[in-house]
Amino acid sequence: MHEIPFEEILQRLLDLKANRVLIQTPEGLKGEAQALADFLERNGIEAIISGDINYGACDPADTEAKRLGCGALIHLGHSYMALHLEVPTLFVPAFAKVDVVPALERNIEEIKKLGKKIALVTTTQHIHQLERARTFLEENGFEVLVGKGDSRVSWPGQVLGCNFSAARVNADGVLFIGAGYFHPIGLAISTRKPTLAVNPYSGDAIWMDKEAERLIRKRWAQIAKAMDAERFGVITSTKKGQLRLAEAKRVVKLLREHGKYAKLIAMNHISYPALEGFDFDAYVVVACPRVPIDDYENWRKPVLTPREVEILLGLRDDYEFDEILG
Ligand code: SF4
Repeated sequence: MHEIPFEEILQRLLDLKANRVLIQTPEGLKGEAQALADFLERNGIEAIISGDINYGACDPADTEAKRLGCGALIHLGHSYMALHLEVPTLFVPAFAKVDVVPALERNIEEIKKLGKKIALVTTTQHIHQLERARTFLEENGFEVLVGKGDSRVSWPGQVLGCNFSAARVNADGVLFIGAGYFHPIGLAISTRKPTLAVNPYSGDAIWMDKEAERLIRKRWAQIAKAMDAERFGVITSTKKGQLRLAEAKRVVKLLREHGKYAKLIAMNHISYPALEGFDFDAYVVVACPRVPIDDYENWRKPVLTPREVEILLGLRDDYEFDEILG
């Protein structure tokens, strides 16, 4: 269950004098998006729901909203990201209604193994409870550090799957509050510190060090599979917050300098089936790091991140997570 402030959204749309809006939603908030559309229409605002899949604030549908003649875009589920947008956009984060403190209480002995000084981080869904979590931990004798993060995040202590800047503080270990493995594994790899993930829904706590090692082994296997590749497709995204054209060009240049054939490809929704028919031996995804890391099993060719290409070419030997920094 998530809290969406319907009345506040309506007021902001009235202030903007937007009488038609596009509502963009992640998979988990489709019901809320539909309820919001009904609410807005009852209040005299025409609401269109975007049926396209959305994974993050990095992919606002502002261009589509403009094309549809909308006076505003409502982007549900994610916090503000600094991007150049074509229509006024309301980023409406969805805060989970679950209390995080019971899970911390239950796992206090595990948390103590992180050390005295801990970096506290979470995702947008639980960010509204970060202060409660901090108070609880301080009352239990910890020194809690909440990093500010860079311009890609909206709040201190917030992490994205592509940005762990808020965890870069001088702590003994990292405490992540949230569900799912992608963020805490990325934190463990990126910070190289003991990382404990406490799930406020299940109440479980999982150490990420082994998970991180497992992921790194899988990534080395991808790099090994690409060792004999001669022809590389280097994919950049056309999604506003994933567009890393300069980085993609740098990768193309590096590959060419090492005698490889490399071509730049631009895509919106990056998936292997759309690439069938091109003549490449391997791909590099210079966009959301979740694509090559989470989805590689669906690719029939090896798929790497920019950092992994550097390992492949012998330019580095330590594994580094691919982050998009602001
Ligand atoms: Fe999330 Fe990927 Fe977008 Fe980063 S680039 S915000 S990880 S969807």
